[in-house]
Amino acid sequence: MAGYRDTLNLPKTEFSMKADLARREPERIAWWKERDLYARLREARRGGPVWLLHDGPPYSNGHLHMGTAANKIWKDAAVRQANLMGYDSPFVPGWDNHGMPIEVQVGKELRASDPSVDRLALRRACREYAAKWVAIQRDEFERLGCWGDWRRPYLTMDSQFEASILEAFAGLATKEFIQRGQRSIHWCPTDRTALAEAEIEYQDDLSPSIHVLFPLRRDPRGRLERHAPLAAVAWTTTPWTLPANLGLMVDPAARYVVVRDRGAHFLLAEPRLPAVRDAAGWTEAAVVERLPGADLVDTVFEGPWGGDSRVVDGTPFVSMEDGTGLVHTAPGHGKEDFQVGQRAGLAVVCPVDAAGRFTAGAEPFVGRSVLEVNDDIIAWLRERCRLLASAVITHPYPHCWRCLQPVIFRATDQWFMIIDHAGHRGRALDLIETRVRWDPPTSRNRIRESVRLRPDWCLSRQRAWGVGIPAIYCDTCGTVLLDPAVMRRAADVTRAEGSDAWYTHPSGYFVPAGFTCSTCGAKGPFRLETDILDVWFDSGTTHRGARAMHAELDRTWARADQALLGTPPGAAIASPAAAGGPDGSPEGPTPRIVYFEGPDQHRGWFNSSLMVSAGLTGQAPYTDVLTHGWVLDARGRAMHKSVGNVISPAEVIAKYGAEIVRWWALATDWRSDVRVGDEILQRIAEAYRKVRNTFRFLLGNLYDFGPSQLLPHDRLTRVDHAFSEHLARRLAELKQDWETLTFHRALDGLLQVCTVDLSAVFLDVSKDRLYTLAPDDPARRSAQTVLWEALHDLVIAASPALVFTAEEAWLAHPGLVAESPSVHLARWPERDMRREADADWPFLLAVRDAVNAAIEPLRASKELSTTTEADVTLRVPPSVAERLAGYRDELSGFLIVARAEIIPDPAASEPSVEVRRTRWAKCERCWSYREDVREEGGVCGRCTAALAALTKR
Ligand SMILES: [Zn+2]
Ligand SMILES: [Zn+2]
Ligand SMILES: [Zn+2]
Repeated sequence: MAGYRDTLNLPKTEFSMKADLARREPERIAWWKERDLYARLREARRGGPVWLLHDGPPYSNGHLHMGTAANKIWKDAAVRQANLMGYDSPFVPGWDNHGMPIEVQVGKELRASDPSVDRLALRRACREYAAKWVAIQRDEFERLGCWGDWRRPYLTMDSQFEASILEAFAGLATKEFIQRGQRSIHWCPTDRTALAEAEIEYQDDLSPSIHVLFPLRRDPRGRLERHAPLAAVAWTTTPWTLPANLGLMVDPAARYVVVRDRGAHFLLAEPRLPAVRDAAGWTEAAVVERLPGADLVDTVFEGPWGGDSRVVDGTPFVSMEDGTGLVHTAPGHGKEDFQVGQRAGLAVVCPVDAAGRFTAGAEPFVGRSVLEVNDDIIAWLRERCRLLASAVITHPYPHCWRCLQPVIFRATDQWFMIIDHAGHRGRALDLIETRVRWDPPTSRNRIRESVRLRPDWCLSRQRAWGVGIPAIYCDTCGTVLLDPAVMRRAADVTRAEGSDAWYTHPSGYFVPAGFTCSTCGAKGPFRLETDILDVWFDSGTTHRGARAMHAELDRTWARADQALLGTPPGAAIASPAAAGGPDGSPEGPTPRIVYFEGPDQHRGWFNSSLMVSAGLTGQAPYTDVLTHGWVLDARGRAMHKSVGNVISPAEVIAKYGAEIVRWWALATDWRSDVRVGDEILQRIAEAYRKVRNTFRFLLGNLYDFGPSQLLPHDRLTRVDHAFSEHLARRLAELKQDWETLTFHRALDGLLQVCTVDLSAVFLDVSKDRLYTLAPDDPARRSAQTVLWEALHDLVIAASPALVFTAEEAWLAHPGLVAESPSVHLARWPERDMRREADADWPFLLAVRDAVNAAIEPLRASKELSTTTEADVTLRVPPSVAERLAGYRDELSGFLIVARAEIIPDPAASEPSVEVRRTRWAKCERCWSYREDVREEGGVCGRCTAALAALTKR
């Protein structure tokens, strides 16, 4: 070809083979920022139907890990596809700033230099620390190519946001959801604070398992006294709770027995007799009395610390699966104990202080940590003959999410949101069923269970870094007051001055003039509450606070609210498919408020947001809740520093580029767990190269082509037309994958089009025409028309995922830039498809496969070196021949053979192919074997014409 090389239309493009992502991505991000493209996208979509993804705020400490990176990438792809389809889809990122993790970290650093650091100094340092990490994480999220209003994020420590928290609290208080009271709650003795349900992690611990004896004191019915000496047997795994024992629960409907063993009498539930007999090593164990649990209620036994232990109805908490059927009850140390104790009129005893040390009443263990005292208590019981049996078992014990230390139950005065107030729980459950789409659908069960079972929400924390609870105490009578005027004032002052104001002003700054205590009538003095709000309450109000901070978000959200208000129950959630696009149903499109987080948020953010929103307005805060899986290592294990299997996004970006992190995150269905490891990343980098090279090939062959040269579809060659139809079908599939947020299928589809449809077939088939025909030969322009559509559509279809590469490819062709200055401002292309179900492209591929299969053995035996040397004869059924007839002129080009002959054969059920070496000569320019090549070293007629066209120019 050497002599003719300059006469060929060889590919030209600046879009390089080598991606050099790690270096070029930051330049692209700067380029986007200079042009303020996110703002231009917002401008272009404003007023469209609302598809609003509300960012769940990550906590502002530490660098991103693969989980936080994946979460933001999924959200980014979701928002991008919505914008692509024409929705008004803003993204306002947020951060959760208050709370213990930062306070603990900052407190440690501060106290190292100044042990007497005060609350305000600590709060100031926490604020600086949070701001520092917001800035770091923002850069890291932006580095991943995520678009959003990064200059105006919402921050829970912003004074506008803090005021909105206080208003939400005041709203709930006004509706009488908020109460202060004594409760037995999870308490971290290490961090010295109450913990919410979402802050508890269970892990298996070794625990003592002991059977304790409670000697009989009084039996009002007199049935037990004749068996004296008699003791009730109770089982516990927390010996340290025994000093607070006030009762024994029974199941009134169960059967209990008095058992005699070697002269002593024991009371326990009959179904538990075999297990207790084994544990205690009883040899005789004769049943001397049977009685129903109901007959035991109000019997009094002697508690381990000498107090009365009264039998109470323990329905439904008495199990016959473990223990003895008589449950040790310490209302100060257990949720169920507390509940049953309240019902049965038991007092609450809690001889344990905030640090988890015994106080008066737990002699001789006063001052000891309850977490270290179990063995000594067991020995103490044994000395007093109160121990029937003792063993060690493994069972799940609650731990603090923060310090990972074991937590205890402790009765303290706390602020609560009462979940069953005014039918709230039922309303929340109803919203879950009728107003929200849950994806995957199984996540509905998880949120339903977690709302059904959740206890009242403990809102108070005895910490410094958060929003102060706007309550006041009357110094005269001690009453605590939640007054609307005080709460409103607290919100206003906070909006103007920030939440420090609660701690810097005297109470008179918040208490209006003339205010009197509603209990005792005193005019003062009043004292301000020092407890802060649970950080989960902050994040539970983001659907209000983010709007308070961002006027444009608020306007978009308000349009969604308005549309949703007019929607009857059920209609809004008919089905994701029925929800339709911007041009959807005649009723108009359904606005969406989307939450997209990990599975722990059924107890956390999904839950807290629903509690606040349903409490305040009776509405769900969202229409769609998407729950993704966990990010794990290549072997399916959680990533931990201690295991040494942590992969950080920064490392992957440095080695492969953010584009590969994005493809990785999107390549696995987010509805399941997602794994990451070197091999996985290498595979993705390989797939990336294939897509990149396809873009490069398309661009290379379109250097002299643009939209003005597009041929109408009726002037395409038949083969090109069939392929263009096929592409349109593929594109429709891709669209559906994006719209259903089935990202992995969209990327699979993209890769398939690039490798299977284009690289392996169409590009091969069209090369000859592209390179050798005269530049404006209709057959070449036809191929280019199809390549143009492929480039245009595929770059757009790749853009929610491959944000950098799609942009690079887009900018590499002036025809694309003319349509839109950035691919990320483009709209999804709609292509017409013929209605026929039996598309021709798969049919043509089947013919091609049959021919290649027949040629392959000849190539293997070196009889032919390429398919171009082959003459093929196809014997096919007449119906196939008829269908192929329209392609007759293009068939040899499509099959890349010298000559293709079709013979209709009524006897043939399958096509059969004969292959011979062609007798035609090879054209020296196009390397095809053609009938009109007159001599060795000559050129074909087609090439002669092409050369003539070139000289005419
Ligand atoms: Zn802790
Ligand atoms: Zn008072
Ligand atoms: Zn030729």
